[in-house]
Amino acid sequence: MATNTALLARRQAAVPRGVAHATSIFAAKAENAEVWDVEGRRYVDFAGGIAVMNTGHRHPKVVAAIREQLDNYLHTAFQVVPYEPYVALCEELNARAPFKGPAKTILFSTGAEAVENAIKIARAATGRPGVVAFTGGFHGRTMLTMAVTGKVAPYKARFGPFPPDIYHVPFPVPHHGINVEQSLQALQFLFKADIEPARVAAFLIEPVQGEGGFHVAPPELMVELRKICDQNGSLLIADEVQTGFGRTGTLFAMEHYAVEPDLVAIAKSIAGGLPLSGVIGRATIMDIVEPGGLGGTYAGNPVACAAALAVIEVIESEGLLNRANVLGERIKSRLHTMARANDLVPIAAIRGLGGMVAFDIVKERGRYDPDAETTKSVTAKALERGLVVLSCGVHGNVIRILVPLTATDPNVEEGLDILEQAMRIAA
Ligand code: PMP
Repeated sequence: MATNTALLARRQAAVPRGVAHATSIFAAKAENAEVWDVEGRRYVDFAGGIAVMNTGHRHPKVVAAIREQLDNYLHTAFQVVPYEPYVALCEELNARAPFKGPAKTILFSTGAEAVENAIKIARAATGRPGVVAFTGGFHGRTMLTMAVTGKVAPYKARFGPFPPDIYHVPFPVPHHGINVEQSLQALQFLFKADIEPARVAAFLIEPVQGEGGFHVAPPELMVELRKICDQNGSLLIADEVQTGFGRTGTLFAMEHYAVEPDLVAIAKSIAGGLPLSGVIGRATIMDIVEPGGLGGTYAGNPVACAAALAVIEVIESEGLLNRANVLGERIKSRLHTMARANDLVPIAAIRGLGGMVAFDIVKERGRYDPDAETTKSVTAKALERGLVVLSCGVHGNVIRILVPLTATDPNVEEGLDILEQAMRIAA
């Protein structure tokens, strides 16, 4: 039997360090919110393959849709011999787009590809080069998405130079000492010092920063960005790669805001574990690029499209949007109790939108002093006790909870119990 230790040694010999690993266990099987390693140990999964498994591992309806598609064809390339699952999925996404008016959708494979193409479309549609993004934002690892990502280490260090005409303004996080007014002030400075609004193609924002620490974009910021876009003819791109597909209690997090985006990048949980991403946008904008300017050999793979159609059906028939809210409230309420316990590591800033919940681990109760070391120890101790959970955040001190929305109540409680034990032992 393969052991985790033996596989780790093989991994280290065969795979470069550049692709990090949050755990040192190797998967043998996964079902709904549980994962088993190659040694037969069971874990509750609060990571969901980094926000990919909102409908759980191997949802029976998703697996059935994949099986059916496997028996028909695996790949013909949509640009060569197109297929219905691609078109059907775009129709379903267009019908649910988080903006009024006609929508069109194009499909890709990864989140980075979706963001990169949203920027390409925005540049072509506006005839402008500039993109304004936010500090702490994460948008991918390709050259352009690295450039818009607002965190140097480990994502950008040593990989430059980056494409020009990309700018960052501080993302407002009150407990990091930055409010909306300061962010907007920084934007005005940017307009004075670096780029005039008339050269900005798009503003790129995650409605809730994912890798950056689960910070919810304040409604006033979103409203102001929309206003600036409308005044200057720029587009608003929402990166919903991590927030998307039900996590926040709505299909898209932008539905929580009073304003609409022009383009939306989606990926991760849309296809139940298969690689699929896309850009949903206003039809007039989406049709500006000439044929051949967008696409990709594998973009919109038919098996992934079949899975995504099943994912939409599952989210709606199982009431997973409501479930995201119920789970989010339950998790937050347990966390608030943990925050009051003196024998646990000090935690702060319990937050989230729907089921996208996180908190900070700090050095001292009542003060905001990020503690990345203890955070590492908490995730490690949780793993030892049977819980896969991820950290994130610009200071590396945020624990984020991305449990499948299909998880049973006992699994969620078990995961929270393990998290609590880990926070007691790490204290
Ligand atoms: N945007 C956001 C908000 C993300 O969270 C991620 C992945 N963590 C990406 C883009 C990049 O997605 P991918 O890794 O599939 O390229």
